[in-house]
Amino acid sequence: MTNHIGHWIDGESVVGSSGRTSPVHNPATGEITALVDLASIDEVDHAVRSASAAAKQWRMATLSRRAAVLFAFRELLQSRTAELSAIVTEEHGKVLLDAAGEVARGLENVEFATAVPQLMKGGYSEQVSTGVDVYSIRQPLGVVAGVTPFNFPVMVPLWMCANAVACGNAFILKPSEKDPSASLFLAQLWKDAGLPDGVFTVLQGDRIAVEALIAHPEVSALSFVGSTPIAKYIYESGTAAGKRIQALGGAKNHMVVLPDADVDMAADAAVSAGYGAAGERCMAISVVVAVGDIADRLVEAIAERIPRLVIGNGAASTTDMGPLITAEHRDRVATYVEAGAEAGARIVVDGRTTDVPAKGFFLGATLIDSVTPDMTVYRDEIFGPVLSVVRCDSFDDAIALINSNQFANGAAIFTRDGGAARQFQMEVEVGMLGINVPIPVPVAYYSFGGWKASLFGDSHMYGPEGINFYTRGKVVTSRWPDPTTSTVDLGFPQTR
Ligand code: NAD
Repeated sequence: MTNHIGHWIDGESVVGSSGRTSPVHNPATGEITALVDLASIDEVDHAVRSASAAAKQWRMATLSRRAAVLFAFRELLQSRTAELSAIVTEEHGKVLLDAAGEVARGLENVEFATAVPQLMKGGYSEQVSTGVDVYSIRQPLGVVAGVTPFNFPVMVPLWMCANAVACGNAFILKPSEKDPSASLFLAQLWKDAGLPDGVFTVLQGDRIAVEALIAHPEVSALSFVGSTPIAKYIYESGTAAGKRIQALGGAKNHMVVLPDADVDMAADAAVSAGYGAAGERCMAISVVVAVGDIADRLVEAIAERIPRLVIGNGAASTTDMGPLITAEHRDRVATYVEAGAEAGARIVVDGRTTDVPAKGFFLGATLIDSVTPDMTVYRDEIFGPVLSVVRCDSFDDAIALINSNQFANGAAIFTRDGGAARQFQMEVEVGMLGINVPIPVPVAYYSFGGWKASLFGDSHMYGPEGINFYTRGKVVTSRWPDPTTSTVDLGFPQTR
């Protein structure tokens, strides 16, 4: 019998009642492992009402109690990392080490949120006028929702929920229907950590659930991470419905390699950041920009490394690269390789002809040289193990290339020249930048987010901006009655 994956509402697992489901695969075998429920509008309403009731209680929990729950959650998450990683690998396909890395990066967000008593501190100004003090406080929003992509089923939910819960909100997670099990594991850990029922909810679903969350009057804010067209749609419909929205979209991350760079270091970085998680990372490098005469040596060094990658089931400890998420996605990625060849690019290594396991959604690593900005392989986000090399004559051309791209999530530069790196930092139009670091995902005490079509909204995710996003400010002007100074005064309040 096929496994069934349901929701988590009011502190317990709930079987869906909509009658609609979606298949969940093990991408390494191609088999359907479960059916996940897809919530109806009524189920969303039920979950939001439960979360709303819980939020009213939870915001009254003391800061130290909230911190204690976060500390307990952190311990559980760390001690159960191996189990959680195995769940991620089975439904997503990434290798176990990578899955454990995702849990570890998510854990950092929980650690950051344990400092909530410090993070929620306001300001205080004494004697702004005679006998009058002014202070600022931050208060939770109530019910907030998170809609997350398939590629980080643990880390991205933790980017959101750790801060949202710490700030005193109730959080509703709508995970990807492609790998929904990790979210239920997190829900159980929250419960075991002592989080009251209803404060963390999982609603499995698709577009219907997301639209119902946006339309629901008791949902105050929604964080989204996914592809650019959906991010834009969520931002526009969410803000039109009066919600606070942060919507992170897709990416096309460039790695510039200057002629003075260490070729081996750059090639190692390009292979790791291009093919890690089969290229299904929003911070993956998908374009290597080779500046000047380093290009031939760099392409050769990358090509040399590709045949050494072991492709297979991510559950095996020897595997470097697992499968793609679905058969359709694998086929779509392959059509980009085809289109690149037809447009005149040079296929240096063709992943379509690589020897890969027969079952499962595998595709080998592809390297394409002499790609130009008009080709679809350059323009579109492919989200697979395809690395394009664009050759540029000058450093200025490389910066201009990046700045003319619609996506602006991350970029990296490889060089030994500090001045060039600094110029890159000053001029490149992206949200996250690596200097000799290919995947510059910020640590949890900074915030994550791109520019342009990689982020819709004003707020980056997690870190200090996450605390701002999940709270709203209130400024109190207060005077304690002093009968000796009391008088009738119809003038506008003055501070002098
Ligand atoms: P996706 O946009 O297809 O789905 C993301 C979420 O939106 C899922 O929960 C999905 O169920 C929901 N969704 C899908 N269609 C919808 C619709 N019409 N209306 C409302 N909700 C809808 O993305 P994906 O394929 O799961 O993830 C890959 C994408 O996510 C890539 O584009 C990648 O770059 C991006 N991503 C971005 C970041 C970032 O931080 N910028 C991080 C991870 C992934």
